[in-house]
Amino acid sequence: MIARKIPIQKKVLIENDRLAGVIRAELTERGIISLNLVSSPGSGKTSLLEKTIGALGTEINMAVIAGDVQTENDADRLKRAGGKIVWPVVTGGACHLDARMVGRVLDELNLNGLDILFIENVGNLVCPSNYDLGEDMKVILVSVTEGDDKPLKYPAMFRKSSVMIINKIDLRDYCEFDIERVKENALRINGGLRIFELSCRTGEGLDSWFDWLKKLSRNP
Ligand code: MG
Ligand code: ZN
Repeated sequence: MIARKIPIQKKVLIENDRLAGVIRAELTERGIISLNLVSSPGSGKTSLLEKTIGALGTEINMAVIAGDVQTENDADRLKRAGGKIVWPVVTGGACHLDARMVGRVLDELNLNGLDILFIENVGNLVCPSNYDLGEDMKVILVSVTEGDDKPLKYPAMFRKSSVMIINKIDLRDYCEFDIERVKENALRINGGLRIFELSCRTGEGLDSWFDWLKKLSRNP
């Protein structure tokens, strides 16, 4: 008899989902909201977190797991911005975070009293869509300096996200990026997307993002 073989990659994903389930249960039980930030490199995930820590750091207890292929630069930036709990994860080549990496960090962190856990994923819109990290929501960032066909090129990532942030809107007059078209295409893929348009540089639009986070942290 030939045993039916489950492809190894499939097994890896099954194991990842199992671990993510454990993480989700733990965070939910503790009333911690967790947001997995995904985007291409350079869309402004770290900038958004810097601004968020700067504005809400005294009101909301936040922790950040900052994933990068190499360097702890982002984590250092977030600590400089006032982040009290910032944990770098250098994947050493891997182009995404997986649940095991997140679980390892959570074992080291003091989760008591934490309101929101941000997970800054590696800048990549492809495979992070396959790896559940146990988060409540994925937050996808696009910026107006990128191509405006991102939703069409990476539909899975938009489908699995709950929130879309359009960043760098202060540059909209200098770019070909059609904000309305991106929103339309993204909503066609995922009608439930909550959308924020903002600029981390000028601060425009950040308040509604902050307000949303405040509400979220009050009613996890
Ligand atoms: Mg970053
Ligand atoms: Zn990857």
